[in-house]
Amino acid sequence: TIGMLCMDQEGDIAGACTSSGLSYKMNGRVGDSPIIGSGLFLDNEVGGAVATGMGEAILKSVGSFLIVELMRQGRTPQKACEEAIARIIKQNPNYKDFQAAFIALNKEGEVGSYCIQQGFSYMKYRDGKNENFKSAYYF
Ligand code: ASP
Repeated sequence: TIGMLCMDQEGDIAGACTSSGLSYKMNGRVGDSPIIGSGLFLDNEVGGAVATGMGEAILKSVGSFLIVELMRQGRTPQKACEEAIARIIKQNPNYKDFQAAFIALNKEGEVGSYCIQQGFSYMKYRDGKNENFKSAYYF
């Protein structure tokens, strides 16, 4: 999955994601990416979130919507991503068998990211400069 969150000079937020889905998926499987709220969600009053990883787990947590609602309640993007991953861990005793990751952006332009298994990285572009980050992770 490729996910993207953007903020323009007026502070308006947009986002997108695209995915080929999981390898060896069953014919007809629908992952999280095309489901608004799961693979991607944003509210221009609050911020946005986007996911990658095991779509079934992300769908069950409605993770991107959860993150935006947590930010609405005052969580930082980082804290909101951590809480969404904690929800996935709680819902899935087999969480060590798959990857899941979120990035989030709020209206202040703050970015957060968290993932279940290390190895997820993301890029931040601002004022003509690219910065590469490794996501914080649960294990
Ligand atoms: N989230 C995608 C899916 O489950 C897979 C991925 O991120 O690679 O369809």
